[in-house]
Amino acid sequence: MTITCDVAVLGGGTGGYIAAIRAAQLGKEVVIIEQDKLGGTCLHRGCIPSKALLRSAELYAQMKDSASFGIEAGELTLVFPKVQERKQGIVDQLHKGVQYLMRKHKIRIIEGKGRVIGPSIFSPKSGAVAVEFADGEMETVVPTNLIIATGSRPRILPGLTPDGIHILTSDEALQLEELPGSILIIGGGVIGVEWASLLSDFGVEVTLVEAADQLLPAEDKDVAHELQKQLQRRGVNILTGVSVEPETYAIKGNRVQISARQGEDKLELSGDKLLISVGRQANVENIGLENTDVGLERGFIRVNEYMQTTEPHIYAIGDCIGGLQLAHAASHEGLTAVNHLAGATSYAYQESQVPRCVYTRPEVASVGITAKEAKDKGLKVNIGKVPFSAIGKALVHGETEGFVKMVADAQTNDILGVQIIGPHATELIGQAALAQLLDATPWEIGQAVFAHPTLAEIIGEAALAVDGQSLNT
Ligand code: FAD
Repeated sequence: MTITCDVAVLGGGTGGYIAAIRAAQLGKEVVIIEQDKLGGTCLHRGCIPSKALLRSAELYAQMKDSASFGIEAGELTLVFPKVQERKQGIVDQLHKGVQYLMRKHKIRIIEGKGRVIGPSIFSPKSGAVAVEFADGEMETVVPTNLIIATGSRPRILPGLTPDGIHILTSDEALQLEELPGSILIIGGGVIGVEWASLLSDFGVEVTLVEAADQLLPAEDKDVAHELQKQLQRRGVNILTGVSVEPETYAIKGNRVQISARQGEDKLELSGDKLLISVGRQANVENIGLENTDVGLERGFIRVNEYMQTTEPHIYAIGDCIGGLQLAHAASHEGLTAVNHLAGATSYAYQESQVPRCVYTRPEVASVGITAKEAKDKGLKVNIGKVPFSAIGKALVHGETEGFVKMVADAQTNDILGVQIIGPHATELIGQAALAQLLDATPWEIGQAVFAHPTLAEIIGEAALAVDGQSLNT
């Protein structure tokens, strides 16, 4: 059977289903082809389940510290199966929400594995999708425009194949039925540091290994150092500039063992489990790209600023195009693609406007570029830096570690970037992103009235600090 439609979306993750909704809102007839569950990685194996676990871990850590707030709570018991049950309840509720949205917008869901086909009797152009169902039956979807949103999967180190018992990726770690006594985490990027934070808050002995000379290698050095200091204070063993040697991996007495190098030094590392968090690889194989002229670049689908591939009627969005592999980047790319293909007002996608959030304790968030990146581009910068210890609400919260750094172009006064480490950083960064989008200067942000006492005051203070006018530091 052949189904024709205006827009077909291959992959129903965050990028795909948001793109589908916007296309339906613009009056398009839309089909989503999904081989697994609507919601994709973010909902089932990423953002939502990991943040649910992080919230339990944060609460547990705070309750252990409740005496400092004058609350004697007695002995605490962590019931990990209940933690997992709560996590799954949240995922299931949101999954139902996505299904409801599809019905509301009359988006047709085709549950099967899709593969793009070349020009054929169905369509003179490539971009039709052959869908294979679990029972082996086939169907062909022929859209005017195709959006590829097939996402990504954990990158694996050769020789360290996840077995769900000793070697895990975040996919398996999210399904743990009980906590290990200790864990060795390879990779100190976003996923690695989030797991280090949450597991150490749950009382697991954590060793975190990063090959670069700082955690979160893409982020500001001061921020990364502050995060390292805070995690170390909580007992996380952090090794930077260290590369593991996968060929030395062995299991001895039910513990994993692996050698590593730090410069000339050889290290022997071990733990009850090994978590690999070394990035994510695009799902671009076996989806029929060889039947099209869609180009790849370093393993990701190549697109322009409107998400068009090298075949202009085929778009690609989300983790499969690389860049910032974040859920809100995927959905924003989806909106950009749909607005463009539908001829609606369409803004070119700008990665510099996408906030990057890390849900560790303390949280890290940033938008735009760092002072170092600005200087590398030959720009002169003014920097405003304010510690959370200067903010009354941070003291009330009992979380005074960290700071906000605002980087402005010394010549144009444009905000180039904002970096935050500290309480509710992932909420605060939204103000910086909005200010950047609206082209506000630090002086203009400094004129806004921030309620007292709020953590948001730190954004106003950092803006004033750019011109040396901070009032509370
Ligand atoms: P996906 O969500 O991966 O969806 C792709 C979909 O395509 C899947 O459902 C898949 O089944 C389907 N598919 C693939 N191939 C086919 C095919 N041939 N036929 C049919 N269907 C197919 N991002 C954040 O912004 N915030 C966070 O806090 C955050 N936390 C994360 C934590 C973890 C542990 C991980 C792993 C990721 C996290 N991310 C986070 C990243 C976020 O999950 C991804 O950026 C986001 O899911 C990408 O969306 P997507 O639509 O591109 O792909």
